[in-house]
Amino acid sequence: MQTTSVLIGGAWVPAARSVPNLNPARPDEVIGEYGWCDAAQAAAAIDAARAALPAWSATLPDTRAAILRRVAQELSARAEDLGRLLSREEGKTLPEGIGEIRRAAAVIDYFAGEAFRTAGHHLPGLREGFEVVVTRAPVGVVAAITPWNFPMVVPAWKCAAAIVYGNTVVLKPSEYTPACAWELADIFHRAGLPGGVLNLVGGDGRAVGPALIAGADAISFTGAGPTGRVIMAQAAPLMKKVQLELGGKNPLVVAADADLDLAVQVALDGAFFASGQRCTASSRLVVEAPVHDAFVERLTAAVAGLKPGDPLLPEIRIGPVANAVQRDKVLDYIAIGRAEGAEVATGGHAVETNTGGYFVAPTLFTRAHNAMRICREEIFGPVAAVIRADDLDHAFAIANDTEFGLSSGIVTRSLAAATAFRRISKAGMVMVNAPTAGVDFHVPFGGRDGSGFGGGEQGLAAIQFFTETRTHYINPGRP
Ligand code: NAD
Repeated sequence: MQTTSVLIGGAWVPAARSVPNLNPARPDEVIGEYGWCDAAQAAAAIDAARAALPAWSATLPDTRAAILRRVAQELSARAEDLGRLLSREEGKTLPEGIGEIRRAAAVIDYFAGEAFRTAGHHLPGLREGFEVVVTRAPVGVVAAITPWNFPMVVPAWKCAAAIVYGNTVVLKPSEYTPACAWELADIFHRAGLPGGVLNLVGGDGRAVGPALIAGADAISFTGAGPTGRVIMAQAAPLMKKVQLELGGKNPLVVAADADLDLAVQVALDGAFFASGQRCTASSRLVVEAPVHDAFVERLTAAVAGLKPGDPLLPEIRIGPVANAVQRDKVLDYIAIGRAEGAEVATGGHAVETNTGGYFVAPTLFTRAHNAMRICREEIFGPVAAVIRADDLDHAFAIANDTEFGLSSGIVTRSLAAATAFRRISKAGMVMVNAPTAGVDFHVPFGGRDGSGFGGGEQGLAAIQFFTETRTHYINPGRP
C-alpha cells in the first residue's frame, strides 16, 4: 500500500495530490503523506463500486462472513501497533487508541454474524393460495463519509455493515485522520475482498462530496451538523437515501440522592475522555441544587488533576485536541463562555508545550445557564458546563431543552427518578449511572433532531439502512 495512492477497483492508484498528516501532539512530526482525490477520482471510485455490485450482492453469506472475520482477526492481532498509529494521528491516549482498534475488530466480528440474518420472512398471503415472501436486497453503492474523532471504528462499522449486507462502498475518511482508514482498506483488500467492493477516496469533503452523493445510492454520514445539512440538501433533489449521525449537547443529570463519587467519575469520563471529542460527550452537567456545591468542588479537583500531555506516555490521561482548527474553535468557545458570564472553575486556556501540540486545559464552567451558547452549541473539546437545577423536574426540562437528541444520562439512587428520566428524555440513548458516552455495538446507536436521523447504526438498526425490503406475492396457481 502506498499512502499517496487511493484504492479504486481493487488497485492502489496515485491520488490527484497528497498532503502530510501531522501528529497533533507534536505537529512537526509528519506521520505520512496521504492521497487527496479530485471529483474525477471520486466518480471513478463510484463507477468501480457500481461495477462490483452485481457480483458482490450475489455472494453467499459464508463468503462475506469469512472475509469480515479475517479483517477482525488482523485488527485484533495488530491492536497495539494500530492503536499507536491512531494515537499519533488523532491524539487519543494509547489505551484509548488500542481500545478503539479492539472495538473496531469486535464490531466487524459482530457484523460477520449478520451475514446469516439477511434472509427476510415468509408468510401466508391474504388471498386464497397466495404466499408472501419479504426479502431484503442491498441498497446498492454506499458512500461512507466519516469524521476524525473515531478514525478507525466509525469507518469499520459503516464498511462492515454495508459490505455484509451485499453493498459496495466508497469510503471517504476525514482528511485529518487518514492513516487508520488506509490501514483498514488495505486489510480488507488483503483479506480477499474482491476489487471494487471497498474503494477509498481521500481529501477535502467539499471537493469529492458532490460526486459521491450524485453517484451513490445511499449516503451514510457521520460528522458535524452543518456538513450533514449540506449533504442532505445535495441528496434531496436526487432522492438519495441518507443517514446522518451528527453532534450532541448531551446532558448528565446529577440528582440530589446521587452517590457523588460515582457522579464525579461518570461526569469526568463522559465529559473529558478522548479530550471531550465525542458526539456523546457529557457537555452539560445539570445538578440538583442540594448537591450542586459539593459536586462542583469534587469535580473541579478531579478535572484539575487531568494534565494534558503526550498521549503515548503511560501516565497521561488526556491528549491534545485533534487539529489546530479544533483547538482554535475550543478556545473561542472558552472566551464566549467567559463573556457570557459563566465562571471558569478550572482550565480555560491553551497549554503550551515544547512540542507545539494542540493542547487545551480541561475546562469546567460553573454558573452556566442553559441559554448560553456554551450550553447550546457543540464545542467538541475538553470543556463542560455545570448548570444548577432547582429540582428534578427543572433538571429534566433543562436536559431536554436542546436542539440535539443524541445521548443523555442521570446519576441517582432512585429507581423512580431513573425511570422517569428514561421515559421523558428525548435522546436516542439514555444512560443510568453511566457516562453519556460509551456505547455497545450490538444495539442501535443514533440520535434525533439536530443529532441526525436515518434510524441509527449498528445492532438491528444497520440492516434497516443498508438494505431495502422487497415483498414478493406468489400465486402458485393450479398444478
Ligand atoms: P465534519 O462534518 O467536518 O467532517 C466529516 C466528514 O465530512 C469528513 O470526512 C469531511 O471531509 C467530510 N465533508 C466535509 N464537507 C463535506 C461536504 N460538503 N460533502 C461531503 N463530505 C464533506 O466533521 P468532523 O469535524 O470531522 O467531526 C466532528 C463531528 O462529528 C462532531 O460534530 C461530532 O459530534 C460528529 N460525530 C458524530 C458521531 C455520531 O455518531 N453521531 C460520531 C462521531 C462524530
